[in-house]
Parts: sequence; structure tokens; C-alpha cells
Amino acid sequence: MIDTHAHFNSTDLKNLKQEIEIVNSKPYLNKIINVGLDYETSKEVVEISLREEKFYGTLGIHPLHEGNISSLLELYQQLDCSKIVALGETGLDKSSPDTLKQQEKKLLETIELANFLSLPIIIHADNTNREVIDILKKQIPKEGFVFHCFQPDLEILDEILKMNGYISVGTPITRKTAKKSLEVIKNIPIENLLIELDYPYMSKESTIDGRNVFNKIKLIRGYTHRELETILDNNAKKLFKKL
Ligand SMILES: [Zn+2]
Repeated sequence: MIDTHAHFNSTDLKNLKQEIEIVNSKPYLNKIINVGLDYETSKEVVEISLREEKFYGTLGIHPLHEGNISSLLELYQQLDCSKIVALGETGLDKSSPDTLKQQEKKLLETIELANFLSLPIIIHADNTNREVIDILKKQIPKEGFVFHCFQPDLEILDEILKMNGYISVGTPITRKTAKKSLEVIKNIPIENLLIELDYPYMSKESTIDGRNVFNKIKLIRGYTHRELETILDNNAKKLFKKL
């Protein structure tokens, strides 16, 4: 299994070293994409990727974090970014309405940089699916994109698919209240689906164990374990070509 979205850095985790060891001890978890949230975490993501075989990474300034997108280009040029597979996460988050203009500027700049570096982008859209899609239509991420932790909406899903985009889903789909998410999983072409745990934000109990999420998809779509694993891994490699 490839976990396409996690946050392993010393800001988010108290005992980073131990947490990385846990990842390394799980044989079913082959690769993990460690997502940068600002300059410091992005730098750490690169360092971890060079040290730890399973860890790949992204450089990004999260919509709710401070930072200049140009600093990511500096990082990319200064460090060995051979295992940096994407830019992000970037996007729009309505929980901070006062900064939406700045968030939009950072999103546009991230797409521009991703196109320059030939990398896909990871999108964070919190109550902003519509706004983000409208921006993507104007400024197209040429190497593709994924709506991470997708907030279910069949109309938006349709537009994402028309643009050849991906969605990734995680632990929220295992909750009893996940009716709308399950509709999405029933309807999406399986080639456009990715799996993520967004540890430590969205999955808190079972560290990086994605079995619950995986089994839920398996149940809905009726694949065998091996079939689904191959499909999801291939999807991840298709979007994140450096995996
Ligand atoms: Zn995240």
C-alpha cells in the first residue's frame, strides 16, 4: 500500500524518530508521501526522504500557513529533491475567511511553480471545492492534481474527472456518517481514486494502519485485496511519477 498523504515532521509529531520506526516496521506499507506545510516542514520532508527509504515528499505552503512560494523553489534548487513527488498541499480553506485572497495567490503561484518543475499538486479544499475548481480551470496544473481528503460532492467530482484529476480518501469514509463519501466511492472510476491517512490529523488511533479505509473501499467496489492494492498503487504511481 502507498499512503499518499501524511505529515511526519517534528512540528506535528512529538516523537518523530519513533513514529518513523513504526512506519518502517509495517511491511504492507511500501511508500508514504510526506506532505510539507510550510518552509520548515518542507525542508524536513526533504531531509527525511533522503534518510528513509519508504518516505517520499512534497514541498508546500498550506493555505493556513505563512510563507512564500518562491522559498519552495529555493529549496528545490538547493537540496536533493529526487524524492519530491509533488507540490502542496495548497488550496483554499474557509476557516480563515480573512486570508482567502492571499490563499488564492499562493494557490496560483504553486500551480505555476508545479508546471515549471513538471510536478503534480496536492489540493486542500475545505468548504471551497467550487472555488478551487474554478481556479484550476483558469490555471491548469499540467502534471495533474488530487483533491486530498475529498469533501464529497458528486457534481464537483464530475468536474474533477473531466479534468483528469484524482481524489483521495481516508478515515472519514469509515465513519457511520459517511453516506455521501460512500456515494462518491461507488461512483468514481477506480482509476481516479487514491488512499491516504493524513496522519496525524485525520487518523489518530491506529497510527498509519490504513486497513479500515482499504477494507471499506474493497467492500463497496468488490475487488480482492490484491486487486485493489495493485490498482491503488498504480494510480498513485501514475499521478506521482517519481514514486
Ligand atoms: Zn494534510
